[in-house]
Amino acid sequence: MPSSTLDDLAEAYSQVSLINKRLLDECEVVGQTFHQKGIECILLKGADLLSRLYGMRGTRPLSDVDLLVHEQDLPVIHRLLMETGFTQQIDGNPAYISSQSTLTLDLISELWYLDEQGLAELWARARSRPLGRLMVKQLASDDLLIYLVAYTVVHRGYFAPSFFTDLRLLIEKEVIHWPTVVEEAARHHLKIPLYHGLRQLTLADARTKIPSAVLQQLAPSSLSERALNVLFQRFVTTQPLPELGHFLLWVMVEPYLSPQWFVKVKPLAEPAIQAVVDGRIRLLPEGWTNNYLGWMRDIKDWCISRQIWWGHQIPAWYCRTCNKDLIVEGAPATAENMPAPRLTILQGATPIVGKSAPATCQTCGGHDFIRDPDVLDTWFSSALWPFSTLGWPEQTVELKTYYPTSTLVTGLDILFFWVARMIMMGLKFMGDVPFRDVYIHALVRDAEGQKMSKSKGNVIDPLHVMEQFGTDALRFTLAAMASPGRDIKLAEERIEGYRNFANKIWNATRFSLMNLDGPRTANAPAERSFPDRWILSRLNHTIQVVTTELEAYRFDRAANALYQFIWHEYCDWYLELIKPTLQNPASPDAPGTRQTLVDTLETTMRLLHPFMPFLTEEIWQTLPHQGESIVVQKYPTTEATWIAPEMDQRFTLLEQTIGLVRSSRMLLNYPPGQQITFYVAHDEPMRQEHLDQLRSYLAHLGRGTVDLTPTTTWPTNNLLRLITEGLSVGIVVAGDVDLNKALDRLLKQQSEQTKEMDRLEGKLRNQEFTAKAPPEVITDHQDRLVSLRRDQAMLANSEQQLRAMLGT
Ligand SMILES: [Zn+2]
Repeated sequence: MPSSTLDDLAEAYSQVSLINKRLLDECEVVGQTFHQKGIECILLKGADLLSRLYGMRGTRPLSDVDLLVHEQDLPVIHRLLMETGFTQQIDGNPAYISSQSTLTLDLISELWYLDEQGLAELWARARSRPLGRLMVKQLASDDLLIYLVAYTVVHRGYFAPSFFTDLRLLIEKEVIHWPTVVEEAARHHLKIPLYHGLRQLTLADARTKIPSAVLQQLAPSSLSERALNVLFQRFVTTQPLPELGHFLLWVMVEPYLSPQWFVKVKPLAEPAIQAVVDGRIRLLPEGWTNNYLGWMRDIKDWCISRQIWWGHQIPAWYCRTCNKDLIVEGAPATAENMPAPRLTILQGATPIVGKSAPATCQTCGGHDFIRDPDVLDTWFSSALWPFSTLGWPEQTVELKTYYPTSTLVTGLDILFFWVARMIMMGLKFMGDVPFRDVYIHALVRDAEGQKMSKSKGNVIDPLHVMEQFGTDALRFTLAAMASPGRDIKLAEERIEGYRNFANKIWNATRFSLMNLDGPRTANAPAERSFPDRWILSRLNHTIQVVTTELEAYRFDRAANALYQFIWHEYCDWYLELIKPTLQNPASPDAPGTRQTLVDTLETTMRLLHPFMPFLTEEIWQTLPHQGESIVVQKYPTTEATWIAPEMDQRFTLLEQTIGLVRSSRMLLNYPPGQQITFYVAHDEPMRQEHLDQLRSYLAHLGRGTVDLTPTTTWPTNNLLRLITEGLSVGIVVAGDVDLNKALDRLLKQQSEQTKEMDRLEGKLRNQEFTAKAPPEVITDHQDRLVSLRRDQAMLANSEQQLRAMLGT
């Protein structure tokens, strides 16, 4: 690239930065320049290209490719890419792949160099496609420089159109919706200059057309002509349409006004409103119902004309004779293979609508018709999707079977464009709603809640994440975070956490498989051991919760219920509780426990399967099972014989006791493996009885010898007692325990808990927080506060004891 051009670019960028930081980013990354005549578009070359590609924050694609490359530069760029570790991908578009990235290239020559020969080629190609004429027509007049299609933004009080000329956009994207633009401009008291027809703009035109007020504000006088040209050329290139809202342009472009086809939409909207009001269709989360109704009640007639290449052509014809003065055609083609001249239908022309061209004009008897060149809005065709895909208007078996369907899962951004229109069309043509439930899923944002974007560099690449943490971990993360009505703030730490969850499941499986040798007995649940009965009861509870939540589309709650059950109840407690049984060949409980272990793991895998399909299939295949694949197994249902509330109570007591033992061990700094003697007693006789039944589990988990005699018989000296809710635990204080340090640890724990309590209380007092937070978060905070208060009382009691022992 000549250095003078680089200077121009640099100047242009520095000026732009005054206007819009975003624009600066765009320019830096793309860094291309154009020359006017013959549109010599070129991009960064050589080493400069590569340093920019990798040195910038995130290379930004131009349209759907990373680089537009002129044909004549391809050999050089190819060589440079190969030298820097890329390999060429052979099939499809030119693309280069390295260990870090993939770079797609697009040749620009065919789109930008439209001399006569190029045009002829394009025309030939277009003719081979049924809908090809329109684009070529738009290219056909005059001497083929840049055609601008305007997209309007109203910004800072100016009616400031911005542009794109990428022909692919002309083809693929919707072009302007002028009625909206006109309304918008009127709302802001802006005047729109009206011209007839799309005009070509040259740079000289552009310069003179910059409104001086705009120029003063936006284009500092120091901007050289060349720099301005560079900027101008940059803007008229290839930003995808939705991005354009951010750009300010100081070139006026004339709207091309022509009659458009509209659908009178109120009569369609009324039944579609009614269907949601009376509940035949549910929008989930329900919060979107009001948005839907508001939009539908305020709906405007629907412009279905589009002046683009792709689409279904409008089924309307015009008699040339009767509409002689209302059909404007450009100069006829001068050579064979040239496109037909541009066609404009003016206001007042009389269309004849029909499935095919009429034979004779009813008015004049003539036979010369032309078809309306417009095509239908893509959403018009999409609105017919629920039944047109099933063979409609034929009454096919598929149509009868699958219309209406049960659930539509979609994103919020097309609730009106697509969902509402499917409802209107379904009611109109099928006489019934197309679906019952519309589940609107969350959007994925970054950890700070920002929308992911390549130019911001905050995109989490799912392929990269799957490679790093596993596909199941990513999938589970998305499910666990899918709270209705809330966007997902995706952070890698969360995904990593669920990768650890997957590892936990693998380890639990490995443990189970290692302990399955030996007979298994499927005796009645009520005859099994305490841990077996308890885990069956919890599994039954989890099945019930997961099923209920899935039916309510609460994927987050279902996932979290599974997580809690598997990690905390199954792995942390159950597998620990059954270790002595499995490791003792003589244990009478062992055959029943092995059976329970297999049953619960197999059922849990089926329950988890929709959330973690790969891991569960792999594990399921290693377990004793029936059938070929977990995919086609029945989803677990609740099992009445598993319900055992008394086992749940017993477990709560066990958990509470072991919690106290562990706290005491920590205070006294006993190593985890050290065997100790500890005392346990409860004020309530029934609970005391339960403790007696739990004796072996208490000894195993407390790591030592347990004494279950009443507190009156406990030693009075050298015993640390922890008491909570009628439950007392006493730990013998060994001679070498430093009581001062134990007291320090206890005071530290107290102060940490006080801080946490203050934090929770503060949040719960904050009305802004309580108004916005989901109910389950508030309940969770309250529960933790209750539990912390209980602990505080217990710790205060222990503090007294320690001080007494220390004589302070
Ligand atoms: Zn006629």
